[in-house]
Formats: sequence, C-alpha cells, structure tokens
Amino acid sequence: MTPQPNPEAGAAVKAADRAHVFHSWSAQELIDPLAVAGAEGSYFWDYDGKRYLDFTSGLVYTNIGYQHPKVVAAIQEQAATLSTFAPAFAIEARSEAARLIAERTPGDLDKIFFTNGGADAVEHAVRMARLHTGRAKVLSAYRSYHGGTQQAINITGDPRRWASDGAAAGVVHFWAPYLYRSRFYAETEEQECARALEHLETTIAFEGPGTVAAIILETIPGTAGIMVPPPGYLAGVREICDKYGIVFVLDEVMAGFGRTGEWFAADLFGVVPDLITFAKGVNSGYVPLGGVAISGAIAETFGKRPYPGGLTYSGHPLACAAAVATINVMAEEGVVENAGHLGASVVGPALRELAERHASVGEVRGVGMFWALDLVKNKETREPLVPYNAAGEANAAMVAFGGAAKKHGIWPFINMNRTHVVPPCNVSEAELKEGIAALDAALSVADEYT
Ligand code: PMP
Repeated sequence: MTPQPNPEAGAAVKAADRAHVFHSWSAQELIDPLAVAGAEGSYFWDYDGKRYLDFTSGLVYTNIGYQHPKVVAAIQEQAATLSTFAPAFAIEARSEAARLIAERTPGDLDKIFFTNGGADAVEHAVRMARLHTGRAKVLSAYRSYHGGTQQAINITGDPRRWASDGAAAGVVHFWAPYLYRSRFYAETEEQECARALEHLETTIAFEGPGTVAAIILETIPGTAGIMVPPPGYLAGVREICDKYGIVFVLDEVMAGFGRTGEWFAADLFGVVPDLITFAKGVNSGYVPLGGVAISGAIAETFGKRPYPGGLTYSGHPLACAAAVATINVMAEEGVVENAGHLGASVVGPALRELAERHASVGEVRGVGMFWALDLVKNKETREPLVPYNAAGEANAAMVAFGGAAKKHGIWPFINMNRTHVVPPCNVSEAELKEGIAALDAALSVADEYT
C-alpha cells in the first residue's frame, strides 16, 4: 500500500482525538499526537503522505512488522469461525498457542497462563510466587519497567512509579549491573557482576531470606536502557534464588519472541527461571495478549488447590490465533535468526562506528534488534545529555534530536537521555542502512548540545 495524502481526513482524526481521547502517561494539553493513516512492514505513514521507518516497533512489539498478511488472515478466519469464547473452555487457537509457546520456553516452563498484556502477566507472576512460597516480599531492580497496573508499577524501577508509591506492599528495589554508570565502583564486567551479586545477596540477608517470595528482573532491561547483563550475572541470581528458596521471575515482555535473536533472551545466558512473563512480540501486538510461562514445580502448587486469579479475556481466541500465526511466520521466515544475524553484522558495527564519530554518543549497548545509544554531554564524565527524568526545557537536546530523526524519515524510540534502535525483527538490511543513515544525521543535531 502506498500512502495517499489526505490532510483533511488527518485533521478530522486529530480533532476527534484531541476532543475525546485521554492519552496514557501524558499531560493532555501538552501533547500533539501524529495522526497515522496506515502501516505496512517496517513503515507507517501520516495523512500528509510522509512515511516513517519505525525504529520503535510500536512500543517494541511489532516483531514481524505491520499488517503481515498471514497474521491478518488468521485473525479474520478466527473471527469468522469462533470470535470469542470464555477462558474455562478448551479452544483450538488457545491450545495451539500454548503448545507453540511451551515448546519454545526454556527448561520445564511448560504451562501457559494467558493474560491481556505484560503488566497483568507481571501481576500474576508475583501472585503465583507469593502463593507458591507463602512469602510476601518481591525484589526488583532500579532501572526497570514492569508495567502500568498497580503491582507492576510498584515493582517498576523508573520515575513512573513515584506517583503510585505508597500503595506498594513488600516491594524492595536493588541495583542490577550497569557497568557504564556503575553503582559498585567497578571497572570491569567481572567486578560489576560479582559486586552486583554480592549487593543482591546482602539485600536479601537484611530483608530476611525467609520473607522474600520472588526476584523479578527483565532478562535484558529494555525501557530503562537495554543494559545487557554481564556474563554470569543471571546464572548467579539463579543460584541465589535456589539457595534461599526464592522464585526467579524473568520478565521477557519486551525481550522475548525474537527480539534478541533468540526466542527468549534467557537462552542467550543459558538460564532457566521459574516463571517467564511475556506479551508484545508473542503475536506482534496485533491483538492484546500476554502471559506467564510456569515451571512444573509452581504449576503443581495449583494442581489440587485452585489458582485464585484470571481475566475475562484470558487467552482470547483472536489474540491466540494471531499468536499461532505470528509464531509460525517467525519460524517459517527465519525472523529470530534475522534479528540475531543483522544485529551482529549490521546494527552493532554501524552503531559503534556512529559512536566514534559523534560527540553525543557515550555508549552503544545491545544484541539482536535490541540496541540503545546512551547520549552524553561529555564522553569523559559520561554526564547524560539530559538530566535524569528531564522534562520541558531541560529536555531540549532530546526534543531536537527526535525532531531531526523524524525529519530524516525514522520514528525514533527516545527515553530520557537514550535513543533505542528497536526495529521489527524481520527488518531488511537495506531498511536498517536507511535508518542508520537517518540516525547519523539526527545525531549531528544532538552533538550540538554536548
Ligand atoms: N514488562 C516489560 C519488560 C515491558 O517492557 C512492558 C511494557 N513496555 C511491560 C512489562 C508492560 O506491558 P504492557 O504495557 O503490555 O502491560
């Protein structure tokens, strides 16, 4: 499909949006949402006919791009045959989605509890861990994002939690590894890893090991900056969990389903948690779906005793049909391998080359189609290009950078002082090169603020 300019239609869409839509995470009068006319593959376009290469994959979920014909057809077919059915019944699309997911999860995480998205998956993972252990506390990392519902936002370790603090019962935050801005005065990955593990174990000792139900970590923290953990860290957390009988939850809502060049990022580190939360890429976000993959031992807890939780739309047939089609497309079209291969051969080298030339690029981190550029005012001091949680004028550098990126035809993912490169996992090499050239031009604008 090619974009057809129709500015009047765009103005009408925008006017209705401004009149009646209450947007998430926003001061309603200070935003100016782009009216989107259509999307296909790695691109979307507005009503003026301007096309953007989507370097955000939506909110890092369109892992096979927009409007994949096989997924669209599967949703249409499911709608025509059995558009909805309550969760207590066995439905072909749901059974098949669960089988395909369980086949890909590591270890014995073979039971799948479906939710509507990522935050409710986190809510349920925490509930399962608390009931399984009979303990209350949950340990989670600063610099993390786990969702916008009450428990998930309390667990989150970024400023969006602050407005909901006070409602948090039993959530304790700790520092996970991030060598570039080490909390542990570490200079090597080995030191960062060892000291972060020591810090976690000390935190548990002071909280009381018998009170901690779960440790939840994003396998690779996404929203907070794609901080790939050093080798040995997650295996070390696994050992600590085993030592104290703590449930280990890996949140793969963003990192799962091909994003890192593996079906699950846990596979990059050879680690098997007790629970994995997933959403987003499971069906490329075509219909809301999330879930928890559950180990045999935790599933057994709820063998004779009912699991107290569920949602009306858990495992909705349309969402599950989209998941079946998406997973099959990913397998048939080598999407996971594409993300791993082009990440290592194209994105990583190109971003490192940009870092050498641009004064504003402090660090490049990532794997697969999951990369971040940490933008700085000064490469020596590593002072972030904008202050932590900057807004308004303090954020001018990132606003200018974002504007330049859009002008050059990419839609960038921007969070605080970072821009993330997170295109669809089936992006082509030519698209990546086009996007990186645009990023290069936009970084020249960011350089002016160093
Ligand atoms: N966990 C992680 C790691 C996420 O990245 C997100 C969303 N960005 C969530 C949970 C919440 O997912 P949702 O918005 O689907 O509720």
